Amino acid sequence: MSFTYYREIDRLGRVVVPMDIRKSLSINAGDVLKISADDSKIILQKAEDKCVFCNGTDDLREFEGKFVCSECRAKLSR
Ligand SMILES: [Zn+2]
Repeated sequence: MSFTYYREIDRLGRVVVPMDIRKSLSINAGDVLKISADDSKIILQKAEDKCVFCNGTDDLREFEGKFVCSECRAKLSR
């Protein structure tokens, strides 16, 4: 399924993801989206929202395509 919509960005840089797209991809309030960009486009992807080590969700950061929570990052840096 493919969608094309035009949406205005507000003064804080926010844009609403159209409801049809959110429903189709099962994106709900509180879900994490991965935002990436190149010279000409911005890509929003539904993110894995769990730490690869402990399944936690606290302050997730991406590393090599996987998510790691703040507690596990602290353990890794020791
Ligand atoms: Zn973790």
